[in-house]
Amino acid sequence: MARADRWGGLRLYRLRALRRVVPHAEGPITRVSVAAADSEIGVKHSVLLHGFVVLVDYMGNDDAIVQAARVSYGKGTKSVRDDRGLIRYLLRHRHTTPFEMVEFKFLVRLPIFVARQWVRHRTASLNEVSARYSVLEEEYEVPLPEEVRYQSTVNRQGRGGPLPADVVERFRSDLERVSQDAYRVYEQALKDGVARETARLVLPVAYYTQWYWKINLHNLFHFLSLRLDPHAQEEIRLYAAELDRIARTVCPIAFEAFDDYQLGGLSLSRREQRAVRSLLEGKSPTDACRDAGMPLTREDGKAMTTGEGVEFLAKLERIRSLP
Ligand SMILES: Cc1cc2nc3c(=O)[nH]c(=O)nc-3n(C[C@H](O)[C@H](O)[C@H](O)COP(=O)(O)OP(=O)(O)OC[C@H]3O[C@@H](n4cnc5c(N)ncnc54)[C@H](O)[C@@H]3O)c2cc1C
Repeated sequence: MARADRWGGLRLYRLRALRRVVPHAEGPITRVSVAAADSEIGVKHSVLLHGFVVLVDYMGNDDAIVQAARVSYGKGTKSVRDDRGLIRYLLRHRHTTPFEMVEFKFLVRLPIFVARQWVRHRTASLNEVSARYSVLEEEYEVPLPEEVRYQSTVNRQGRGGPLPADVVERFRSDLERVSQDAYRVYEQALKDGVARETARLVLPVAYYTQWYWKINLHNLFHFLSLRLDPHAQEEIRLYAAELDRIARTVCPIAFEAFDDYQLGGLSLSRREQRAVRSLLEGKSPTDACRDAGMPLTREDGKAMTTGEGVEFLAKLERIRSLP
């Protein structure tokens, strides 16, 4: 009996606590909405041949980041730093948790070869259409002629210069034929009663899949900084660009900070800093790289095409070409 009283008392205490008005430094709590983002909800933005990105919902905005940060820093900071300054300070100093307070849910239709790169980002939630349950549509990606190019000689993972037109056209028509043939086999298998989960094995990675994808702003910044980068494959970059464009309607100030400190930022290793010091002392980039232990030539005298020195020169080029 005494035990039951104790639990009963505890329940009553909890109820009272829930009914109390939640104290909040900035006034009453209301659901935030951003007009520009609200008008994006449900709008289908085409990407590639059959793909799209749709903003399904979002939670929070720039104010939510500020609100979360002020729980840590207290009301007093308002007079010292305005909201924009605070958001920029947070991102600059990698105080990232307030950025987790903003969430986005997207519906995305994308080719399987892009999806395979996309799912490597583990810090999001996703639900994908099941090809065990549903029949996939006959929709496959065929790159534009200008996107079918030589294998790059400097980047083992990338594309290089333009191919002869006949090679491009042969590849594109072969891709069409193989994709269509595969779908005929898929249809026949389904007609013959082969289970959908087995029949789908014949469909190539150019075929499309679809998913809901939910991610917070901190993790979206990480995704975007990797997938907007010129080293990422063109197709996923197109999706990243669309996500970026839509998400910045929700929290434009945070994205401005992202542009300045993450996307447009540049990290310098200790060796690179030594090379910068040599440059400031008036040495040539070649000597600066050599002194810093990042030589630009091999022992046989040939110019290096990869490595730290080459990457450092690319960083200098990026600085030189700043608008
Ligand atoms: C240009 C490019 C080329 C690539 N090439 C290849 C390739 O050839 N082969 C290949 O396999 N992959 C490749 N990838 C994928 C890459 O290795 C990453 O898997 C992908 O970019 C996701 O990065 P992430 O793990 O940082 O992101 P997320 O999974 O979103 O994780 C975000 C952060 O959370 C932390 N985290 C998450 N899970 C763990 C964990 N289990 N343990 C520790 N920390 C964790 C890490 O700090 C991580 O940076 C490539 C990616 C890019 C952008």
